[in-house]
Amino acid sequence: MTYTYDDQNIFAKILRGEIPNDTVLETEHTLAFRDIAPKAPEHVLVIPKGAYVALDHFCAEASDAEIVDFHRTVAEVCKMTGASPGEGGEGYRGITNAGENGVQEVPHYHLHILAGRPLGPMLLMR
Ligand code: 5GP
Repeated sequence: MTYTYDDQNIFAKILRGEIPNDTVLETEHTLAFRDIAPKAPEHVLVIPKGAYVALDHFCAEASDAEIVDFHRTVAEVCKMTGASPGEGGEGYRGITNAGENGVQEVPHYHLHILAGRPLGPMLLMR
């Protein structure tokens, strides 16, 4: 795997405390915070604290502890938003973008959790 991590990306700056964020939940290995330009009433970004560029990078190279912590945090965020169908909520969507075709804007792995309204079709067809 030949990912190169750019430590000047905006989420690296958030993790270093160089720019503020609206934190939802923080754990040893993971940070969840509100998206600055929300696309739904609830729009939370969940990121690992480690230097991973994209989902496949994280899944291939993160430690078991980081991977478990990340996903437990996702579950907690879904619960906190009230969106989890398993908690009686109306549902949510988890999205991650990677690279050029995925139209990834910030090169630090992040999972978008979107909720609070019907989210429409998964992709626009064009
Ligand atoms: P991507 O396109 O990489 O999957 O998504 C990047 C997301 O990061 C976008 O939804 C964008 O609104 C969000 N974002 C970009 N800069 C900032 C920032 O400085 N703070 C926060 N909280 N979100 C940001």
